[in-house]
Amino acid sequence: MDCLFCKIVAGEIPSGKVYEDDYMYAFRDISPEAKVHVLVVPKQHIGSMDEITAENSAVVARIFEKIPEIARMAGCESGYRVISNCGPDAGQSVMHLHFHILGGEELPLHIRGN
Ligand code: AMP
Ligand code: ZN
Repeated sequence: MDCLFCKIVAGEIPSGKVYEDDYMYAFRDISPEAKVHVLVVPKQHIGSMDEITAENSAVVARIFEKIPEIARMAGCESGYRVISNCGPDAGQSVMHLHFHILGGEELPLHIRGN
């Protein structure tokens, strides 16, 4: 499958790894919108929020259990924001489910991650 984030997970495209386990991969956004801008993706291909099902939602739960630790490791010391853009109106540009973690500074009100 020709998916950018599947290639990053597979190590075929270099990335700034922040955290990895059997289920997820977290790495620095190539075009940061805040001092800290990390993307967390499931290792299995899920296209977007629209493709979360009862069969694959356990990995989403694991990601959310881990996000506070990933945010801390990445340098968020006094809070962070989590965003997932789904579909054209939200401006989703990579069709592999991902959660933006933004922080490291006081964030502007309007920031959508991309
Ligand atoms: P979205 O537009 O919400 O789908 O988010 C996609 C994000 O992926 C954007 O913030 C991009 O800056 C980021 N991105 C695109 N290519 C790469 C890459 N090779 N490494 C890291 N982040 C990337
Ligand atoms: Zn993928």
